[in-house]
Amino acid sequence: MKVGLSASGEAIKLAKLWRAVHGLTFPINAGALAQEWSRNVAPDAPIGELQARELPGFEGGLFWLKERKVWALLYHPHEDLPGRANFTVAHEFGHYVLHRKLQEAFQCSQSATLGITRAKIEREADQFASYLLMPIDDYTQQVRGRRITLDLLGECADRYGVSLTAAILKWLEFTDQAAVAVMGREGMLHWWKASSSAKKYALGALREGMELPSASLAVDPAQATSTADYRLGVEHADGVWPINLPLREMVVLSDRYDMSISLLVLDAPGVDHPDEPDEDMTTNLPSF
Ligand SMILES: [Zn+2]
Repeated sequence: MKVGLSASGEAIKLAKLWRAVHGLTFPINAGALAQEWSRNVAPDAPIGELQARELPGFEGGLFWLKERKVWALLYHPHEDLPGRANFTVAHEFGHYVLHRKLQEAFQCSQSATLGITRAKIEREADQFASYLLMPIDDYTQQVRGRRITLDLLGECADRYGVSLTAAILKWLEFTDQAAVAVMGREGMLHWWKASSSAKKYALGALREGMELPSASLAVDPAQATSTADYRLGVEHADGVWPINLPLREMVVLSDRYDMSISLLVLDAPGVDHPDEPDEDMTTNLPSF
C-alpha cells in the first residue's frame, strides 16, 4: 500500500466492485464488503471481526489484534438508525484501506464520523465512506429535475443506507444548486457547509458561533418542526438570514448532540432550481 491513496478514488473503485457483483442494488453493505475485500487483498491481516458494541463516547473503532493477526471493526449499534451504523462501518473500513499501515488502533468520535473534524485521517475516512456508499452518478439520477425537499433527501438516505445528515452533506458536494446546510445548537450556529455555487454568498455571512437569525426556523427547531411545513421548506424574504438572497429553509432535528440542521436553498441569480413539487407527498418522515 503506498502512502497517499486518494480516499475518494479508492472508495469509487470499491463501489464499482460492489456494483459489478451485486448490480444496481443499494444500499452497499459496508461490513460485508469490508470483510470480503480484506480477505482477498490482505489475507494475512484481514478484518476478521465485525461487531456491534456499545462504545461509550465513540461511534466506531478499528483495532489490530496481535495474537490473532486480524483487525477488529467495532461500531456503536443504532438499531433504530441503521444508516448511521452502516456509515460508521464504512468510515472504519476507510481507515483500513487508507491508514492501516500508519496505526494499529483507531477510535472515532461522533464528530469524526460526520466529517466535522479537522484531523486529516478522520476527514479522509469520512470522505471514503461518503464516496463508497453514495455513488454520485446514481445520486444525481435520483434527484435530477426534482424539487429538493427533506422527503426526497430522506428517500436517498434510505436508498444508500446512510443518515439523512450524511445524505444532505453529500448532495451539497455535487449539486449545481446554491444551497447551504447550517448546523445549529442552542440558538448558535455550530457549523456550516455550502454547495460550490453557494460558497460566495455564505462566506463572510455565516460564522461559527454567531447567533441564529431570530426569524429563521433554525433558531427554534422544535417549534418549527411542530408547526411549519418544514419538510418542504418555508420561503424567506431577503434578509431573514444574513445571506442577501431570498431562500427556502427546511429544518430537521438531528440525533447528534441535540443539533438541528437547516437546509437553505438560495434563490441565486443564474442558478436553476427545479420547482415542481414532488408528485408523491405521502412519503415517510425523514429519519436521521
Ligand atoms: Zn475515524
